[in-house]
Amino acid sequence: MSRLLLKRWPQRVLLQALHARNARHARSFASSSPISQFDWEDPLASKNLLTEEELAISETAERYSQDHLLPRVLQAYRDEHYDAQILREMGELGLLGATIEGYGCAGVSTVAGGLITRAVERVDSGYRSGMSVQSSLVMGGIDDFGSAEQKDRYLPEMARGTLIGAFGLTEPNHGSDPGSMESVARPHPQKTGYYLLSGSKTWITNSPIADVLLVWAKLEETGKIRGFLVNRKDCPAGTLETPAIKNKNGLRASITGMIHLADCPVPKENMFPDVEGLKGPFSCLNSARYGIALGTMGALEDCIARARTYALERIQFKGNPIAKYQLVQKKLADASTDAAYGVLAAIQVGRLKDEGKATPEMISMIKRQNCDKALQNARVLQEIFGGNAVSDEYGIGRHVANLFVTQTYEGQSDIHSLILGRAITGLQAFV
Ligand SMILES: Cc1cc2nc3c(=O)[nH]c(=O)nc-3n(C[C@H](O)[C@H](O)[C@H](O)COP(=O)(O)OP(=O)(O)OC[C@H]3O[C@@H](n4cnc5c(N)ncnc54)[C@H](O)[C@@H]3O)c2cc1C
Repeated sequence: MSRLLLKRWPQRVLLQALHARNARHARSFASSSPISQFDWEDPLASKNLLTEEELAISETAERYSQDHLLPRVLQAYRDEHYDAQILREMGELGLLGATIEGYGCAGVSTVAGGLITRAVERVDSGYRSGMSVQSSLVMGGIDDFGSAEQKDRYLPEMARGTLIGAFGLTEPNHGSDPGSMESVARPHPQKTGYYLLSGSKTWITNSPIADVLLVWAKLEETGKIRGFLVNRKDCPAGTLETPAIKNKNGLRASITGMIHLADCPVPKENMFPDVEGLKGPFSCLNSARYGIALGTMGALEDCIARARTYALERIQFKGNPIAKYQLVQKKLADASTDAAYGVLAAIQVGRLKDEGKATPEMISMIKRQNCDKALQNARVLQEIFGGNAVSDEYGIGRHVANLFVTQTYEGQSDIHSLILGRAITGLQAFV
């Protein structure tokens, strides 16, 4: 573990991480053997590509997720309830904005950040979504494009999870095509140094509970998209509404809503000072999409583990577990292969990202592929459970419903095909 991490990583997490590392060393020493064993939980030995620090962070995030998120998720999903306390717990462990340097953040590698999303999404994509919006979309945006004052004001509290963020890009009439957005910021006719923000955003994770909403709107003077940090407590009555969207059939353990702005006054110093156009939202999305690429592998790995256990226990025809049958084994083999490849690809892109060598197309490729493969395989693995797949207690149906959303948000899968197609052919197919 580097001395750098010792300084930044919160004390409690650090102790847990060191403990985990020591236990691992003891295990690997005790079991050292000249013959490698195939590990169905890590088929291509991706752990060999991780640093000690990354392994320790991953173990901490996995332990938190299994001990504190898993026991809550079934009821939360049934009730369509998101417990905002989760962000505080994650903040206490240093899991929020973990790749950011300074401001109370851990400053870990991109891969380590992805391992955190993988651990959380192993439990539920909704919990990972709430965390990703906070960490990558809002904190990441402020870190990349905020003024020094904006960073000082928001990042430390957001890292602790005591200030909750939402990211408003999608509008009712403009999802895949955010460049056509209608939200607008016009100079306040009476108050110098203020804008009036108007417009509607929809399908916004965390919006009903957010303290600060990063809203993308066109500046009336230039027609260019700019980012505004809208503080709920500073909005006069009637200028900001954030109703929840209820009765979702996916991501029910997260909270999703709309943002309605009606001439909401926002001071100029709450606008990102320099970034203009789609570059702002797209670069925030780039980091979040990386987290989704590894996160969905966690969800798929959980589907594999659940399906394997079920197949070994379920007896059909002449006393055989269904895991003995070839068709069932093929389903597990396909899913396991796709998960293993997806993890390796994400680690490679994460390393390149930290070296400044990752392109947005690489992120599109792993986001698209991993989301598609997670969804396809989860749907097939669901068949292994037979009628029991319909019971929420088995968890597989929840992952399937969630993974449809991960394939849709932050660039629907086909939209990422168009990004890749443009890079491959040089021809633009969007319009
Ligand atoms: C639970 C949930 C949480 C979300 N959280 C957030 C959030 O926090 N912040 C936020 O800003 N947004 C969020 N979103 C919105 C999400 O990013 C959008 O739903 C997504 O971008 C797709 O936009 P759309 O729904 O308007 O679909 P549309 O853009 O209407 O697309 C519909 C279909 O048409 C296809 N299509 C569109 N254009 C083309 C084309 N040119 N060529 C071929 N096919 C095309 C798409 O691929 C898609 O299959 C969330 C969505 C959900 C469901």
